[in-house]
This record gives sequence, C-alpha cells and structure tokens, in this order.
Amino acid sequence: MKKINIDRLKSSLMELAQIGKDPRGGITRLAYSDEYYRGAQLVKDLMEDAGLKVEVDAVGNVLGRKDGCTDRIILVGSHTDTVENGGPFDGSLGVMGAIEAMKTLDEEGISLNHTVIVANWAEEEGNVIKGLIGSGSFVGEIDKDIPAIEEKLRSHGITPEDIKKARCDELENINCYLELHIEQGGVLDNTGTDIGVVSSIVGEDRYLVTIYGKENHAGTTPMVYRDDALIKAARLMLNLNSQCRKIDDTMVCTVGWIKAFPGEQNIIPGKVQMTVEMRSVNEESIKALADYMKAWCSGEFSEIQLTLSQNPVKMSSKCMNAVSEAADELGLSRKVMQSGAGHDAMMIANVIENTGMIFAPSVGGVSHCPEEWTEWKDIENSVNVLLNTILKLDKQL
Ligand SMILES: [Zn+2]
Repeated sequence: MKKINIDRLKSSLMELAQIGKDPRGGITRLAYSDEYYRGAQLVKDLMEDAGLKVEVDAVGNVLGRKDGCTDRIILVGSHTDTVENGGPFDGSLGVMGAIEAMKTLDEEGISLNHTVIVANWAEEEGNVIKGLIGSGSFVGEIDKDIPAIEEKLRSHGITPEDIKKARCDELENINCYLELHIEQGGVLDNTGTDIGVVSSIVGEDRYLVTIYGKENHAGTTPMVYRDDALIKAARLMLNLNSQCRKIDDTMVCTVGWIKAFPGEQNIIPGKVQMTVEMRSVNEESIKALADYMKAWCSGEFSEIQLTLSQNPVKMSSKCMNAVSEAADELGLSRKVMQSGAGHDAMMIANVIENTGMIFAPSVGGVSHCPEEWTEWKDIENSVNVLLNTILKLDKQL
C-alpha cells in the first residue's frame, strides 16, 4: 500500500489555515474574497510542485491536471472557501489531501492509466452567491439558476458567459469523481471508526412558513378569546418533530429561525414566520413530512413557500467498494454511512455516475466553527485511503 507524507501535508494544511485567520479564533475565507484568491494561489503553487498543469477557469475553480496513458479521467476535489469564522479542515482536507496524493505518486514515479484532475471548487459554501457554483458550473448544472443569481455573480466579476465557459468540455471522458471530506458529525468519533464510506448524501427541502393569528392587547384579552400565532407555530413545531421521528429514523427536521410580529411583549403575536428544513436519504420521506405540514397548515391561517429543494443522491457501488478495500488493506476500521451535509459530490453525481466520498472523523462532531478539528493520525489515514482508492479505480475502471 502506498503512503503519503503526513509532515508535508500538515504543513500545507497549516499554511492554508493562516490565510483568512479570523480574530474570533477561526478562519474566514469567503468565496471570491481576497483571502479566497490568496488560498487559491497557494493551491496552485502546491499543484505545480506536485507536477500538475494548472488552470484557473472562468468561475475561479483551480484545476490541476496530470496526464495519464489514456484520456479517461479520474476527477478528485473539494473546496477551500469557508463559512464565516469556520474551521481549518472543511473542504481544505479534500483539496490538500488530493494534492498530497498526487505529490506522492510524482515522487515515486508512478504513472497512471487515467488522467487525473484535482479540483479546488469555488463557492461551495453558498454564503456569497449560491452553494456549489464551481462544481455546478463544471458539470453544466448552474445554467438554469443564472437569472436568479445574475446580479450577485456580476458583483463578483462573473458573467453568465463565464458560467457557460466553465463547463468542462471533456465530461464524457470522466470515469469517476472522488471527494475526501471531514464528517462534520459525530458518528465516526463516537464509534471510534477510522473511515466513513459514504453511501448517499441526504436530500433537503427548505420552507418559509407564515402563520397568522390575531394581534391584540396582551392584558385585556382573556385566554379563551385569543388567536395567538406563536402558539399555533409552537404546536406545528412539536408535531413536525414527532412526525419526523415516525416517518424515517434517518430523517431530520429543524426550525432554525423564527420571528413573531409585531414582536412586543404586551401584544399577542398576530403573525409568525419560521423556516422549516427537512432532510433524508429517502425522497419519499421528505415528501411525506412536507405533505403532513401542508395538511396541518391548510386553511386560511398560513402560507408555505418552498425556498430550496435538493434530491438525495446515492454514491456508486464501484467507488464505495474501492474505498472499502483500500481501508481494509490499510488495516483501518470503516463504516458505511450517509452524509447529512451537502457537498460538491452531490452536484457532480448528477452528471458523473461513479461518484464516491470518503469521510475522516471530526473530533466531537463539530464543524463550521473555530473548534473544528480532526486528529493528524485520522488525516493521514484518510488521505492514504484516498491515494489507494485512486490507484484501485485506475486499474478497475
Ligand atoms: Zn465542505
């Protein structure tokens, strides 16, 4: 089994973590900011050092290419943009890990049948324009969204033409896509497992729900005469919570934001707005909970607006098997699991059938915060799995 150089990887990850250091303790490297481009420059330099030919496309993806004996392609990638005050490994592990894997192959003089493209996808997080812009443009899946985001795109110097230009012109040659990522949840850490073999990425529906009642004086209106919108919203929240548990034990439902109007302590709320987010690997489960909510809200006292809908995606069995074999041969424990977070792989799987993901454990299951951490031993193990999975797929596909 081939092994990467953890000291070299550690120094590249730590060098990247210095870019966008936030006084609050984390890292802020929002897509298309100065910090993002400084990070992208480091990625570019490290790719060149690993023997890759580098190109930055029209939407800011950094693509490093190593030609193989054939024009069939293995695509490997993740992202280096962060959320506000995020952690050091979300996305970065997948990009720096892929570069380290290529550097190891270069050093050992190993050539592959497949051409490998390492991708640093732009704007994965979606806090600047919209999530998955870089990977989505590469596979030609963003065009339909352009009207809604054109203004934001232009404010960052990107035109609708650029989105079209970024579509890869050799998509049909791509045999598979692999993404290594931190788990961002506590399953691996809690069970003491080394590697997550991702089987699917959950789908997600997001709603903005408005519930109406009747605004009135909080002192002179007896309880029996009230029509309190916030009490109705509370009932809906409790019902959604218990219904979600009944439908599907992989399913989650969250009300993450709520606002009462007019929002005064001596006025009975006449209107409440809240977000309802539902995620599951089963599309039918999401539909069942959405139908339950619509039935509960039917009548004059509410409005429901769908703000985002993303189908669940399955990872390919070929990729899952290769990841599992690599982990076994490296003597690592592994667990087949779903991803509760969205990733570039979710977008790419719409077009590239053979898509797979590898998870590394997150200490305490925390991410998108300064406390985000993965032990160096786990970083080393996960990148060794990535490297050996590439070698296996190069022979198998
Ligand atoms: Zn990420």
